[in-house]
Amino acid sequence: MKTVLFSLSDAELQKFVMDLGEPRFRAAQIRDWLNCGAPDFAHMKNLPESLRTQLDAIAQTLPVKIVKKLQSADGETTKFLLELNDCEQIECVLMRTTYGNSVCVSSQAGCAMGCKFCASTLLGLKRNLTVDEIYSQILVAQWELRHGDVKIRANGDANNNDVSHIVVMGTGEPLQNTENVIGFLERANRDMNISWRRMTVSTCGIVPGIYDLIKWGRPINLAISLHAPTDALRSTIMPINNKYKITEVLAAADEFTKTHNRQLMIEYILLGKRDDNGETVLYNCTPEYAEQLSKLLAGKNAMVNLIPWNAVDERDFASPSGNAVHRFQDILIKNGIHTRIRRERGTDIGSACGQLRLNNKKD
Ligand code: SAH
Repeated sequence: MKTVLFSLSDAELQKFVMDLGEPRFRAAQIRDWLNCGAPDFAHMKNLPESLRTQLDAIAQTLPVKIVKKLQSADGETTKFLLELNDCEQIECVLMRTTYGNSVCVSSQAGCAMGCKFCASTLLGLKRNLTVDEIYSQILVAQWELRHGDVKIRANGDANNNDVSHIVVMGTGEPLQNTENVIGFLERANRDMNISWRRMTVSTCGIVPGIYDLIKWGRPINLAISLHAPTDALRSTIMPINNKYKITEVLAAADEFTKTHNRQLMIEYILLGKRDDNGETVLYNCTPEYAEQLSKLLAGKNAMVNLIPWNAVDERDFASPSGNAVHRFQDILIKNGIHTRIRRERGTDIGSACGQLRLNNKKD
């Protein structure tokens, strides 16, 4: 296996280049390139060509390699399928938005949570990602912002080349890999200067993990994937609900938001089912469920993100009509609940959780 230079300490990198008969300062030159996310050695123009060729034969830059890069037609979204050293694959997504350049990172290869609507979990959990593997995803995005073809930038500012926001909402359950997710966020804050308030961790509701985040103490944002207002309904689509009930999850989330004076994000996918006539009937987004959700969240400092379901072939759900989505939202608004409909990004490039990885395995 090739040596991953990004994962070497400074002393190890120096030894590595000196063993090749190179002067020590080459290590610092290489480190600068690694910290910018250089995908290969060919870009390292301040190294002699012979060294670049030699390095290419025995080493690689980052612990992730780009297998596929997909650009949405509007240029706002870039999705990467990345391969790890043990050939596992993960996804990350760069979104150029009006508020900043946001990267959605994966925290695990695969997922063990078994949510019935999600593609990420279909092949089960393979393993946790390391801090380096999670961090490399934002380096890949940063390199793309600086060197890629797309010139659309956050706020329309063509010089805005930095990753400004991180959402841990890709494949995997971050609070099953809490230590490495925290290590990653600490590093992004230290080395990329991304503020805590521009980081969001999304969980399906691992209660002890939420308390671990409270203990950690950084004022990041917390998102809870709720998707149902009653335990009976939630347990049909999210097996984790058999372990941690809605009231427990929301109590932990309340404590988190009070500690940091942050608004809680609630993720709510809108799911339909096909009936025998092939018509779509509402599953978790009937007017009655909207009323129940309103009661559950009344008085909380929360924002409900309504997410139209991204179709996954293997999953037995359907997307409800735009009208149904708006009706659901109107009821929440009438009841004084903050809510917005998540803009769908990159649906033309299979941006739903785990779709790209899954489709690649099927190819
Ligand atoms: N495990 C974490 C983070 C990864 S999932 C969590 O559950 O929050 C990120 C978000 O995408 C979750 O809200 C998840 O429920 C949602 N999601 C999964 N599959 C989806 C699909 N096909 N369409 C829309 N959202 C999906």
